Amino acid sequence: MLSRRQWLAAASAATVWPLQARAQANFSAADLAHAERLRELALADGEAWRLVESLTRDVGARPAGSEGDRRANAWALAAFERLKLEAARTEAMNVRVWQRGAAQARLTAPYVQPLVMTALGNSVAAPAGGIEAELAYYPDLKTLAADTSDRARGRIVFIDERTERTRDGSGYGRAVSTRVTGASEAAKRGALALAIRSVGTSSNRIAHTGAMRYDIALPRLPAFAVSTPDADLIAGLQTQAQAQAQAQAQSKLLRLHFTLDAREGVEVVTHNLIAEIKGSELPDEVVLIGAHIDSWDLGQGALDDGAGVAIVMAAAALIQRAGLRPKRTIRVVLFGNEENGFDGAHAYSERYAKVKHQLVGESDFGAARIWRFNHRVSNPALPLMASMAALLAPLGVAWAETGRNEGNPGPDAAVLMRRHRWPAVALTQDGSSYFDVHHTENDTLDKVERAALPFNVACWAVVAWLAAQAPMSF
Ligand SMILES: [Zn+2]
Repeated sequence: MLSRRQWLAAASAATVWPLQARAQANFSAADLAHAERLRELALADGEAWRLVESLTRDVGARPAGSEGDRRANAWALAAFERLKLEAARTEAMNVRVWQRGAAQARLTAPYVQPLVMTALGNSVAAPAGGIEAELAYYPDLKTLAADTSDRARGRIVFIDERTERTRDGSGYGRAVSTRVTGASEAAKRGALALAIRSVGTSSNRIAHTGAMRYDIALPRLPAFAVSTPDADLIAGLQTQAQAQAQAQAQSKLLRLHFTLDAREGVEVVTHNLIAEIKGSELPDEVVLIGAHIDSWDLGQGALDDGAGVAIVMAAAALIQRAGLRPKRTIRVVLFGNEENGFDGAHAYSERYAKVKHQLVGESDFGAARIWRFNHRVSNPALPLMASMAALLAPLGVAWAETGRNEGNPGPDAAVLMRRHRWPAVALTQDGSSYFDVHHTENDTLDKVERAALPFNVACWAVVAWLAAQAPMSF
């Protein structure tokens, strides 16, 4: 027989504890109401547009260590101050960067035809006077990697891999290895240089740059991309040449001449740019919302990643302006040199290795609306994700169906997530047209879908705020 005290203790264990556990697994009604208010305020907010307009107009292209990068530092510090964000600072790092020089290419046979091209980031320069050679055509990287013949030897390898247009960017994911590793695959087979169909989805006559890497054990070949219509021409001439060869008619060889100048390993200083809303109860725990401040040199870095910079800055500013003081610190991080080495992510990772991060996420997929919410958090935090998903649903955002809790939080944030196992959020934008302009001279302000920015800001404000208020670690 239980004493009255024992009975009370047992009853409280059976009823009170489960209730508390359930209560702990959700946000407070007040915090949810604030999140809803932030969502509505964001939809009427024009700050993100003002920021990206100013960044593209007043700063422009901003590769790491360039004059544009220095203008971007001053721009961000001034914007952080205007937006009344706290602890604004720049964190310097020494990096070695690649710098583009002049480059051009033309077909020289079967007839002379100038090509629109651009060097790939990290490409070595071609010898003075350039290179002229016959083309060795491969429909994709897989075919080159499987080639055991010596067809590529002494030639310029051309890889014609196409980038499929997809909403989630998976088409780019499948094609990008051509750009990154194509030169070393060509070098293994004794080629002189690499040319590729641009990794991108535009049919305009523009070429897409982007980083490539060399296998250190192999010769380093100069590498460039040609525009989609130029790749179509090469493919058409190749098909014709093959048909002629089969008909045993005189096959018309494809030859190409190009020049390519570049500097590698240039020592420069670049920065991560940081500002915060200091947490009131757990100031040493950080909710990181990021983007990258650098861009390629060809355009204005409007979609990649001016829009992301504007979105996360505007989201933090909105929370600040709404008069809300989060429990945890909300930190805006604009990473340096994402495009060619993730230096900013690595520097941040070292410096803040011991700091507890509640959540990391990054906006780096253009300016279109977010359609999917995903994350990588501990299982006990999943009910909190359900609450967040419910608040995002009216914005047209679906909670990931397949692969739930396997979200990719963006390039720099993914470096942090992998290195430290910090919980992460993925707010995926519609990337259907992103790769039309990605890494090209067409990445300009007019491509930013102005009406979509407030939806992005709403998602990031809701997620950052609730992550900062959560009753448990994610
Ligand atoms: Zn980017």
